Amino acid sequence: MYDSIVVGAGPSGGRISANLSSKGYKVLMIDLKSEIGIPNHCSGLVDERVVNIVGQDLVIDKPQTAEVITPITSFKLNSKRMFVIDRVALDKKLSEIAESEGSILKKRTRFLKYRINGKEIIVETFGTEGYVEYKTKYLIGADGPLSQVRNLSGIKSPVILSSVQFDLKEKNDSVKLYLNRDKTPDFFSWEIPHDTENEIGASGKGALEVVKHITGNRNIVRKRGGIIPIGPTELGLENIFLVGDAAGLNKATTGGGLYAALKSADSLSMAINKGSNILENYKKIWYNNFGKEILRDYEMRKILDKMEKYYKLWVPYVLTNVRGINAIGDVDYPSKILLYLMASSPLKINEIIKNFILLSNRNHNYSK
Ligand SMILES: Cc1cc2nc3c(=O)[nH]c(=O)nc-3n(C[C@H](O)[C@H](O)[C@H](O)COP(=O)(O)OP(=O)(O)OC[C@H]3O[C@@H](n4cnc5c(N)ncnc54)[C@H](O)[C@@H]3O)c2cc1C
Repeated sequence: MYDSIVVGAGPSGGRISANLSSKGYKVLMIDLKSEIGIPNHCSGLVDERVVNIVGQDLVIDKPQTAEVITPITSFKLNSKRMFVIDRVALDKKLSEIAESEGSILKKRTRFLKYRINGKEIIVETFGTEGYVEYKTKYLIGADGPLSQVRNLSGIKSPVILSSVQFDLKEKNDSVKLYLNRDKTPDFFSWEIPHDTENEIGASGKGALEVVKHITGNRNIVRKRGGIIPIGPTELGLENIFLVGDAAGLNKATTGGGLYAALKSADSLSMAINKGSNILENYKKIWYNNFGKEILRDYEMRKILDKMEKYYKLWVPYVLTNVRGINAIGDVDYPSKILLYLMASSPLKINEIIKNFILLSNRNHNYSK
């Protein structure tokens, strides 16, 4: 019998398996992939704090500017904290650390379902050894945005956005963010440098058309896609726990989820180490670790969904505050920027909100 079965050997699964094995727990990690990390859906853009956790050896690019392109104008933000990491190598590295700590990894093995038998959880899998059942005390869903562990536990799914990415063989020095709610009503589109390649991507409705448009007639070396969950869900149920994207713990404003995947894994392993009331302790530790920011970020996204398209209202205001944003900007804590903007000119923010209400009412009347 295992102490924990971890479904998924992505960043959250690799990290929690390593943490638990290093404390002496018997861990089985399963993943349906035949090669860990492949296929890759992620852009790998992270803040320095992720690099500090996972290691400099994974860094493949270091863009210093992010150009924000809106329908009315564009502006540049600078950051010395932005890094692009090799996402395939990240997943491989974390699962290798887990194995070196004693976790058993079974690749090409699919989690099918589970049933509860007293204090045991019986986990049904299908893989290279055919249909196999394993017994465990705890079942950990690190199985990404479409989590089967979550769905079978009856926990509500986050909203799901599909993404499209084209990789081009060309060098790009800066990140580009295209904000245009007419073209990408659910999200935004982007360009991210990856050493000798440049990734063009978009999420939600209109993603494919927009990515094709930005690409133009440039040469595509790879087409890929992934799923971004929007909105955190429950963290588990009795002895079943969710980490990373399985619980929708990424940032709802940007889709970035690597820091949250690692932090949620750390929070859950701390709670398991404490011994009793694991789920309650996990909730508390996660909330204090990074969960508070994820909830704030979700609230910010709701505001953005309503307000972003009024570019003429807010872009000029941001333009006058670029220097301050550069000083405090932090991709893991976007709420810092909102708080900074609110504190830097409360009168201006009041004016923006007043105009926004007027515009919303006007649109409402038009649509009648
Ligand atoms: C287009 C896109 C771009 C992104 N860019 C960034 C970025 O630039 N920066 C950033 O921080 N974040 C980014 N993210 C988010 C980031 O990729 C996720 O937050 C991160 O992958 C979450 O890690 P995870 O381990 O929780 O889940 P995943 O990485 O999804 O890993 C889940 C693992 O579970 C396995 N699995 C699933 N179902 C089963 C099953 N039934 N049985 C066995 N195994 C199973 C999968 O094979 C997979 O290996 C991006 C996401 C997308 C979609």
